[in-house]
Amino acid sequence: MFDLTTIRKDFPILSRKVNGKPLVYLDNAATSQKPQQVIDCIVDYYSNYNANIHRGVHALSQEATDKYEAARKKIQQHFGIAKAQEVIITSGTTHSINIVANGFSSLLTPGDEIIVSQLEHHSNIVPWQMLCKRTGAVLKVIPMNQAGGLEMDAYQSLLSSKTKLVFVNHISNTLGTINPIAFMTEKAHEVGAAILIDGAQSCSHIKPDLVALDCDFYVTSAHKMCGPTGVGMLYGKEAWLEKLPPYQGGGEMIDQVTFEQTTYAGLPHKFEAGTPNVCGGIAFGAAIDYLNSIGFDSIAAHEAELLSYATEKLLAIEGLKIYGTSKEKTSVISFNINGIHAYDIGTIVDKLGIAVRTGQHCTQPIMDYFNISGTVRASFAFYNSLEEIDVLAAAVERAKMMLS
Ligand SMILES: *Cc1c(COP(=O)(O)O)cnc(C)c1O
Repeated sequence: MFDLTTIRKDFPILSRKVNGKPLVYLDNAATSQKPQQVIDCIVDYYSNYNANIHRGVHALSQEATDKYEAARKKIQQHFGIAKAQEVIITSGTTHSINIVANGFSSLLTPGDEIIVSQLEHHSNIVPWQMLCKRTGAVLKVIPMNQAGGLEMDAYQSLLSSKTKLVFVNHISNTLGTINPIAFMTEKAHEVGAAILIDGAQSCSHIKPDLVALDCDFYVTSAHKMCGPTGVGMLYGKEAWLEKLPPYQGGGEMIDQVTFEQTTYAGLPHKFEAGTPNVCGGIAFGAAIDYLNSIGFDSIAAHEAELLSYATEKLLAIEGLKIYGTSKEKTSVISFNINGIHAYDIGTIVDKLGIAVRTGQHCTQPIMDYFNISGTVRASFAFYNSLEEIDVLAAAVERAKMMLS
């Protein structure tokens, strides 16, 4: 049973006021809010069993290690990953991508090709550009279309025996487009390329089954799925993780150290140098438990209702244009109103207690494609209500009147 009133009570922040008005939080694509269950988990860790992990024989260290490894298991099960050692706990999506990009430095030679999409977040473009600079590999881009989808014919014609790696997001953070990742994985594998999928934006909406999907790498951040900031995961097929060199040197990632030579620890520790975000990892597990207690089918159904209601309400405002109209999309709406700067709309609705994002959303290539400087982006989570959408629509209408 999906009971929105009970769910909203789990999120203490949702009952606060902003500028004297009840908070309407519609910036979920930037980060999600945290339920009491996750907050309690964080307080419990620091109150009762804070210790460094994998090091001490003492009771607290054992307890923290057990909880951390239990969280890794939860992540493994949630994402449908075959083995716990294929789950690398990182500081987030950006860190995870950099581990892979750095690792490919030693595997690429000049003339090799990497394919990315025009829908990518900057954190997914820059590491590949740096990798190409280091190796002489060439970056190719899958073009987008007016609906905000990717051109699959163009993708297939970019693929060749030169392609070594394909990188694509599961869902666009700016437009909400759900990309056909199963098809893209199959096509990448046909030419012998690996595929890395950025799940930062999908993890709060969709529960993937990575073994069935068969992608080579999948990355995400806990903070976009009700967990804390500064923690995330890198999934890699074991054979790939064995092949890639470690990203950072330090404690915990070594087997034997002498000044002549160091041998590395096995997976997953090879990629987990130094003291990790112990509390964050454990709370990531708590966030996964929380989302599963609501259920991803219920989440999807409610968010679909929010999306269609908000689309209808916003399109009723004269002069409002929505960017990203793919049939396959999640509860994200990017829009502009004739001649009005997105930032000005964002500022006025903020005065009314509504949190939306304005600007380029770390996706300048999408802005260039539409020839705009930015958009207003309202992104909805399962804890948002239809009433909040009414508040948004009324506020946008008011902003339009004030600004035009
Ligand atoms: C948020 C986001 C990122 C970056 O995640 P961090 O947690 O900031 O590392 C990357 N890709 C997409 C699609 C995102 O939405």
